[in-house]
Amino acid sequence: MTTQPQKVIPAEYIPDVGSFIEKIEGKDYLITNDAMYTFYRRTKGEFSSFFLALRDEKRLFGCKCTKCGLVRVPPFLTHCPDCNFAPTEPVEVGQVGVMNTTPPITYFATSLFQHMAPYGRGRVIFKGADTALSVNLYTTTGILVPGIIKKGTEVKLIFKENRIGEMTDVFCVPTAELTEGQIQKKGLQESEINWEAPVEPVLPAPSQEDISVYNDALNEIKSIISEMNTNERARKDVIGWKRDILVKTRGGRFAIIIDDGDIRLEEKELSSPDFVMVSDDPNVLLDGLAYRGAITDSVIGKKLWISKNMEFNTIFKLDRMARSVARSKKG
Ligand SMILES: [Zn+2]
Repeated sequence: MTTQPQKVIPAEYIPDVGSFIEKIEGKDYLITNDAMYTFYRRTKGEFSSFFLALRDEKRLFGCKCTKCGLVRVPPFLTHCPDCNFAPTEPVEVGQVGVMNTTPPITYFATSLFQHMAPYGRGRVIFKGADTALSVNLYTTTGILVPGIIKKGTEVKLIFKENRIGEMTDVFCVPTAELTEGQIQKKGLQESEINWEAPVEPVLPAPSQEDISVYNDALNEIKSIISEMNTNERARKDVIGWKRDILVKTRGGRFAIIIDDGDIRLEEKELSSPDFVMVSDDPNVLLDGLAYRGAITDSVIGKKLWISKNMEFNTIFKLDRMARSVARSKKG
């Protein structure tokens, strides 16, 4: 956890002072980095108490019409338009709800939301509420793929550790992934959930043929990874990134080590990898690394499973490396 205050604009987005040449139709043009910026403060106004309750008390509030009794969550108005603008009053609602729709999943987010992807975004009707709240959705079972959270799935509101009074302070996971105690607990925090118990796909025992398919694929993967390691563009894609990945396929297992610009394959079992990749067929990974289709697509299409949702970012980087090598060959 960071103790340094976070900046509104992360340092990596701020360009260096300097200039460079861009060649257009054979001519040199000088380009200089410059800046124009505006910061602003937003107020939550009369809805401040809703956000303060999320931030400080881990409670979810709605507003109840004093006339018709309709409970709106979130409390987006102070007077009921259906009852000649009768005032509403704050009312606390439950932290378990039901999906109102099947949520779409965002895998490729803009830079602003990339650290959160993949995430589902859907509408939940919490116990005691009459309207649906739009929240982010996650799973603790590995990568979030279609089918885990659907219309009608019961979900639980989870509070992040560091809350600033925004809707992104909370998210939901399916109650089926929690214990009864966790489901009952009000103000359940992210750190109280076991994120380390993903349901890994079981691979069948390999035949002789599976092992020979594996050995062929492994040789090709090895040569691609050593090519990535000597490719400047590809190395740049994993600067500052460190991951020990255990790859399991039907025919055998190996490790991919990403270490701040370096990438290498090691034929060994890792005892505590950062995450696990499972694919019945090693050629699924091979095709991705060889730039014959994206690994991210294989993850979304459930041909390749990863043990940690947030490691989709690492998969994304592997795809980038494959593309970098392909581009270098072209250029
Ligand atoms: Zn009303």
